[in-house]
Amino acid sequence: MPDNIIPAAEAKPLDFIRQIIAEDLASGKHQKIVTRFPPEPNGFLHIGHAKSICLNFGAALENNGCCHMRFDDTNPSKEESAYVESIKRDVQWLGFGWGDHLYYASDYFDQLYDFALQLINLGKAYVCDLSAEEIRSHRGTLTEPGIESPYRNRTREENLTLFQGMKNGDFAEGSRVLRARIDMGSPNLNMRDPVIYRILKVAHHRTGDKWCIYPMYDYTHCLSDAIEGITHSLCTLEFEDHRPLYDWCLDTLETPCHPRQIEFARLNLTYTVMSKRKILQMVQGGHVEGWDDPRMLTISGIRRRGYPPCAIRSFCADIGIGKKESWIDMSVLENAVRDELNNTAPRVMAVLKPLKVIIDNYPLAQEEELTAQNHPQKPEMGSRAISFSREIYIEREDFLEDPPKKFFRLGPGREVRLRYGYFIRCVSVDKDPATEEILAIHCTYDPQTRGGSAPDGRKVKGTIHWVSAPRAVSCQVRLYDRLFLTENPDADKGVDFKEHLNPESLTILDNCMLEPSLAEALPGDHFQFERNGYFCADLVTSRPGAPVFNRTVTLKDSWVNQDKS
Ligand code: ATP
Ligand code: MG
Repeated sequence: MPDNIIPAAEAKPLDFIRQIIAEDLASGKHQKIVTRFPPEPNGFLHIGHAKSICLNFGAALENNGCCHMRFDDTNPSKEESAYVESIKRDVQWLGFGWGDHLYYASDYFDQLYDFALQLINLGKAYVCDLSAEEIRSHRGTLTEPGIESPYRNRTREENLTLFQGMKNGDFAEGSRVLRARIDMGSPNLNMRDPVIYRILKVAHHRTGDKWCIYPMYDYTHCLSDAIEGITHSLCTLEFEDHRPLYDWCLDTLETPCHPRQIEFARLNLTYTVMSKRKILQMVQGGHVEGWDDPRMLTISGIRRRGYPPCAIRSFCADIGIGKKESWIDMSVLENAVRDELNNTAPRVMAVLKPLKVIIDNYPLAQEEELTAQNHPQKPEMGSRAISFSREIYIEREDFLEDPPKKFFRLGPGREVRLRYGYFIRCVSVDKDPATEEILAIHCTYDPQTRGGSAPDGRKVKGTIHWVSAPRAVSCQVRLYDRLFLTENPDADKGVDFKEHLNPESLTILDNCMLEPSLAEALPGDHFQFERNGYFCADLVTSRPGAPVFNRTVTLKDSWVNQDKS
């Protein structure tokens, strides 16, 4: 077991799945529980998958069981090994491991074929020559039974010969399928002789050209579970109607065990879209920069955005596991990220939109070191020296030429505290004569206020952050915001979800000024830029010496609630 795993909230009452598991262990039904996470390697994982990962790996860990990593790779036309690698990396990044239990449904193709022969021998499967369209139209509706295929009563011998012919490549793609022979009158459409094998003359990422017939998902999944000795097969609610087929296959065939399928509600999150198909559209349409665009809720996107894996785990633990569809507000996820970063991210100063301040009464060539805390609530995180000099940068928005009364930052004649430094008072403003643009402001400092308080007891209402101009490191900072403007971009089926994209989801700021301690930040390092939010050095473009930062999440309290002491 990797040692970086934190078990999900132990104090919370067990969710209904964990209760079932606890009962099955207590009753002796199972000695050891075995779950599996079964992604199809046809895209990148997203935050919804994280819920399933945390449930399957988490429940196994908590009960000293094990969770198998299984790639459900039965559709060679959509699957790629690049996805396999990214999925493995994402699961590990979330803090979970599968030990020796890495499997592929394609490992079972031989066994699945033998099971299909068994079904034929039992008279429970037949080769059907109807076209896909005919099969669909014969299937009936919720109110009308289906129509039996004219091929339904083929003899066992004929079925065996034809199925072997399918396997040998004797027939064209789409010309024949193998169907389970269940009940065309069943109220459950999934039981109306579902297709279990089809011909696909496509090479597979693992089995190459060995097969030209491939098993369907429903048939493959239950049998893979049984082959691996899975005890609890956890899936999302849309599979509830498939459970009778899951059970039918396992009841009809001689399998080593009969895992129990249990459905839970999928994660739906506001202000995002989660299906792989839609995520793919965003990537291919150039609406985002790729699968790992930090605005996307793919695991690779949130990693790059700077969401820490333990924040994702605690988010999943907090939202819990239920049986009813529900929506989680994006702010719940953002708060989990904030809570974690509030605890762990060192505080630093960075000026995003710089305005130069010249401190007229500070000696020209002088420089001095001030001490800044790395985390005001955590002295154990230490402190660092920051350089103070005659020229510094402050945020442009911390100065107003004509400030309203409640504006507690700088304005002509007004005094503020520089964080960890002195009080400064604005004495004049340099402007471009043509455009009236403010080029710099002049201040004086009070040498008596070093450390942040005045010996005469004089108070200031605002504290602002700053960076020494000669020492500052210039860099690019990317401010990310929610990708969509509406809670449910999918709600209106008549409107393409991409119509709801937030045109301001990305703001790129060049020439941000960082304190020099940030120059050597390693990709993935997290910081709180005081008063500006949580940021992390970009995993793709940032390098020590040439950092690039992504805003992970804003601070809950922006400048409105700044120190007013
Ligand atoms: P999508 O519908 O987003 O394309 P998928 O369901 O096709 O995803 P799979 O690779 O088949 O993706 O999913 C692997 C596992 O993750 C499945 O057990 C599936 O039920 C689960 N899963 C997928 N989306 C969610 C979600 N939003 N919440 C919880 N579990 C999910
Ligand atoms: Mg799927």
